Amino acid sequence: MDLTRAREIAEHDFGLDVAQLRPLGGNEDLNYIVVAQDGARYVVKASATPRSALEAQTAALQFLTDSVATFDVPSPRMTTYGESIVDVGGSHPWARVLSYVPGHMSVGSRRIEPGVGAALGSVSGEMVASLALFSHPGLVEGGDWDLREAQRVVGDDPVLTPLLEASLDRTARLTLPVQVIHGDLTEDNVVHGVDGGFAGVIDFGDLMESWAVAELAVTLTSLLAHDGPVMGEVLDAVAAFHARRPLIEDEARAVWPLVVRRALVLEAGAERVLAADPGNEYALARRPFERLVLARALALPYEEVELLVLDAVGLLPKVSSTLQPMIARLVDAPELDLSVTSPMHDGGAWLAPASPEVVEECTTRYASPTLVPEAASGAVPRSVPLGMTAHVAPGRTLFSPGHALVRSATEHGLVLALFDGGWVHVDGVRPSVESGQTVASGEMLGSVEDSVWIQLCASAMLPPRFVQPGLEAHWARICPDPSVLFGRQPAPASGRNAEQLVAARDAVVATVQEHYYERPPRIERGWRHHLIDVEGRGYLDMVNNVAILGHGEPRIADAVEQQLRSLNTNSRFNYEAIVEFSESLVRRCPPGLDQVLLVNSGSEAVDLAIRVARAATGRTDVLALTEAYHGWTVGADAISTSLGDNPAALETRPSWVHLLDAPNTYRGRWRGEESGRYAAEAVARIEGLGVPIAGLVCEPIFGNGGGILLPPGYLREVYRAVRAAGGVCVSDEVQVGYGRLGEHFWGFEEQGVVPDVIAVAKAMGNGYPLGAVITTREIASRFAVEGSFFSSAGGSPVSCVVGSTVLRVIEDDALQERARLIGGELVEGLLGLALRHSRIGAVHGMGLYLGVEIVSDGPDSPDPVGAREICDAMLDEGVIVQPTGDHKNVLKIKPPLTLDTAGVDRFIGALDHVLTMADARGRL
Ligand code: PMP
Repeated sequence: MDLTRAREIAEHDFGLDVAQLRPLGGNEDLNYIVVAQDGARYVVKASATPRSALEAQTAALQFLTDSVATFDVPSPRMTTYGESIVDVGGSHPWARVLSYVPGHMSVGSRRIEPGVGAALGSVSGEMVASLALFSHPGLVEGGDWDLREAQRVVGDDPVLTPLLEASLDRTARLTLPVQVIHGDLTEDNVVHGVDGGFAGVIDFGDLMESWAVAELAVTLTSLLAHDGPVMGEVLDAVAAFHARRPLIEDEARAVWPLVVRRALVLEAGAERVLAADPGNEYALARRPFERLVLARALALPYEEVELLVLDAVGLLPKVSSTLQPMIARLVDAPELDLSVTSPMHDGGAWLAPASPEVVEECTTRYASPTLVPEAASGAVPRSVPLGMTAHVAPGRTLFSPGHALVRSATEHGLVLALFDGGWVHVDGVRPSVESGQTVASGEMLGSVEDSVWIQLCASAMLPPRFVQPGLEAHWARICPDPSVLFGRQPAPASGRNAEQLVAARDAVVATVQEHYYERPPRIERGWRHHLIDVEGRGYLDMVNNVAILGHGEPRIADAVEQQLRSLNTNSRFNYEAIVEFSESLVRRCPPGLDQVLLVNSGSEAVDLAIRVARAATGRTDVLALTEAYHGWTVGADAISTSLGDNPAALETRPSWVHLLDAPNTYRGRWRGEESGRYAAEAVARIEGLGVPIAGLVCEPIFGNGGGILLPPGYLREVYRAVRAAGGVCVSDEVQVGYGRLGEHFWGFEEQGVVPDVIAVAKAMGNGYPLGAVITTREIASRFAVEGSFFSSAGGSPVSCVVGSTVLRVIEDDALQERARLIGGELVEGLLGLALRHSRIGAVHGMGLYLGVEIVSDGPDSPDPVGAREICDAMLDEGVIVQPTGDHKNVLKIKPPLTLDTAGVDRFIGALDHVLTMADARGRL
């Protein structure tokens, strides 16, 4: 059926007054959209489906049009002679006209939108409730999408078959009602109304008879293609479905096995399509989603999701609220702090946990996230305990909390079924009762070993002891707080969660001090290159160049503590630390650069360097480069030109600042081989400036630009011209210096030059405020003419021991060499990704100062939106990385130098996944 024929049918057969008719995409049917003269819209559809099935669809649509008020469906139009289907011949012989359901489709948002689960679950439930009364003889049996057919569809695939069998086992003994269902009620087949809610359901091409609960399983499976807190939305969808069409217990137990089955059928279907047609673009684009959905469906054990589903539909009994303590004398026992902020985890102790050393009787805290070694792996760890442990003197008596049946008594454990509702699981007890015995409230159950775990549960099923953060409210209903069993009051909620904290922060911390991420996690611990939020989730830190030695370094903490306890004065006093540190710094510098001025930050160091250059030359004007950032003080800000930090930077420089074009070899005027021209241009500009200059301040590698190396030999020529013009050369080493480059300790070494003044900070103090200007004796003495220099905390004993310790640890741990080796692995991984992902335009930098250009189509199409999305998605993957550069499209990669091969693999794996998903979304 072509356009002309479609029009003819619309006009002659269906009696439409066609104003416009145009093709509309579709997978199987040929679709045309018609706008009638009166503005009404219709879809002309020609299908190859058997006529009887189309008749069933038409009847169902008619039935739903008449019976459902909460959402629209396409309503079938009759021909002028009273038929709903017309034979048009050809490959798609059956033509119909349906009303067009107005509204907009979901745009494939990567992160789940809050509320989408409940809205979709409600539509799905309403559909099933409505279709319960519909039947039609024309429905075709045994289609591939009928989950009852999963065994045939999955076939004998060696990977999928065992997974299917596990799912089949879970439903073998369940009785599931059968009826007509839509069969593909996913986000792709609903349209949003003006208020954003779901207002219509389309595409009834999979209408079938199947299990009623299969409709819900299909709906839930579609939610799993999103990132973010998906399971919460899934459970909301279950509850919303249940509110419209109550699930019986067998159906509730079948929900997750059927979700897995749907995921397996999608997977098997995709494999089959691609085996027959390996170049099928649509199937290729969908592939990553099918894999993701299956992984998500299999991520949690069946038992666990079953508990969550039973709870979501209110099928779990209430746990008794009149319980007696099971152990005496714990009411005032202290709480053992296992949280992320507990000092017990200091120094990385959380990675190799030993049993806590317990000196007095104590209990742990229910539902409070703990720090577990898995936090280092990137997975969301099972950090939230659903019960409590009491550490007690061995032999203490355990009493029954209520009238109960002993469901099981083993060598070390007990399960009680409470007559008033709920189950009690105990581990760490020598029972004196037997399985099957009834016990009264307060009756002795046995004696406690040295620690006892007690967990309440609303189900006889064995609940998980620890769960991932995110579904606390659900789990609190299933496994309520057992504090009362320890004779204690439930502990008050501890502190503000991430959302509350960021809201409070936005109210009091001037918002110009931006924070990373719209929804930042609350991070309260760091260890080496790991950052850990209060829920116990670990993130790989790829941005903290300041923490060069890693987070939580005990050698720094010890040095600071020791020095703070003995002395902290200022540089006007005579003490060892300032001399020792200055000597260590000078040992790191080229000969001649042997005079140290100590300050507290990079901005101060740059600002002071400008003053030193001015004093040394008796001149005011300064040369700087575009695309650079040097700090926030008046002086440092004046020479900062980065548009990413200040979009108006280029128009607002004071008259004493003169700019050279950033020699950006990737995106600038001269690229690649031609980038040698920058130096000659810069020299010409310096020579033609017409004003005397105090000097040049620039980074020896474009830190702010994302680690772009300057063209070879650039600084040699430019420094020569600056010196010929009577100026001094200042190297801003705040970002790139101090060993991070691997090959070099200082950035200027990469250019083969020696500056007159070094400004350094950041890594110097590993996060403790510390900065320095290092220059020659001659320049320093000329600066002295301006009077004395003093910074109250600059060069204090504490800051100096920090500085010395940092240099010592860099040496002791061979961190510069590590930057070279691990940086090499990282570059190799990134270049590998660049081969497969066209959005990676280039990989800049060296050692562990790298940048990944995110572009849409080569150097002239920087993609800041894409870079932002990648960074947000990386957070979901447990990696902290941020964009930089004038366009904010370069991922800056400058982790603590403790990064290891496992960290590299984790980063590359996460970036690969995120780019793959983003590419796939772009192609759909
Ligand atoms: N110079 C450079 C190159 C920098 O990147 C920065 C900070 N990002 C500074 C100077 C200023 O340092 P601070 O933030 O310690 O004041």
